[in-house]
Amino acid sequence: MFEGAVSYEGVVIRPPSEAGSLILQATLGCSDNGCIFCPAYKEKQFRIKDFAVFEREVSAAAKVMPDIRRVFLADGDALAIPAAGFLKILDLLSEKFKALSRVSAYGSVKSLENKTLAELREFKARKLGTVYLGFETGDEKVYRLINKYGSPGGNVETCLKVKEAGLTANVTVILGLGGKALSEAHAVNTARVLTLAAPSQVAALTLMIEPGTPLHDLRASGEFREIDEFEILSEQKIMLENMGDFRCQYFSNHASNFLPVAARFPKDKAAVIDALNQILLSRNKSGLTPDFMRGL
Ligand code: SF4
Repeated sequence: MFEGAVSYEGVVIRPPSEAGSLILQATLGCSDNGCIFCPAYKEKQFRIKDFAVFEREVSAAAKVMPDIRRVFLADGDALAIPAAGFLKILDLLSEKFKALSRVSAYGSVKSLENKTLAELREFKARKLGTVYLGFETGDEKVYRLINKYGSPGGNVETCLKVKEAGLTANVTVILGLGGKALSEAHAVNTARVLTLAAPSQVAALTLMIEPGTPLHDLRASGEFREIDEFEILSEQKIMLENMGDFRCQYFSNHASNFLPVAARFPKDKAAVIDALNQILLSRNKSGLTPDFMRGL
């Protein structure tokens, strides 16, 4: 649809909730790019797209689809753009898309630690609405294992800062990330940080170990022991049982998940835990997505 208007470089990833948004790459790749499970942007060196190029693409896209209401700024870390540059982008989007109501982007400890609360409030005033944060785990040991920048505590602080600025914070965690050895600690501590951060949305994906990632090698050498579908559901149950009763949308209906769940917490939490319990007791796989059908 945008052929000739927007040139997408490499793999483009967006959160499931951004399915209806126009995706624009303001940055390429991820400024961290070190997580051992992540195959996402390995072929790209992180860089901020040249503003003149971005401006040309936005102008061309606005001619094709002038009524766009929502924009998602890709790639993995668009908020890594310094504040002045990010404001320029937000102003450009408002100027070109007159019906624009909301802009969203992935953020991280790394990209947000140098942004002040005042800067985030300015972003909010210029239509940044939602920031997606990858917590992945709340457990210190698992966090070190996955080699992600920051810490679980840093993720909580970042989420609280995002919320204080009036932005919506949506958080992703990954079931199975601790393997067999750290499954319970991963579940309990992830519940703890989610409770402290209390984001508007929690998306619990399930670990997929992709060829070419360091985690794939760790599994091959036996240093990482993956958990099976029932252990994943048990981990999810422990996480939910330990999670405080803050209001959020809870999703584990991504292509990677064995059991699709879309719920509102705390209203639906008991029912979700009950459904997990029943599957764990019956060991019935018929309602689960078969492993070969899962995807990223
Ligand atoms: S998980 Fe996120 S922060 Fe880590 S390398 Fe992948 S895109 Fe970057």
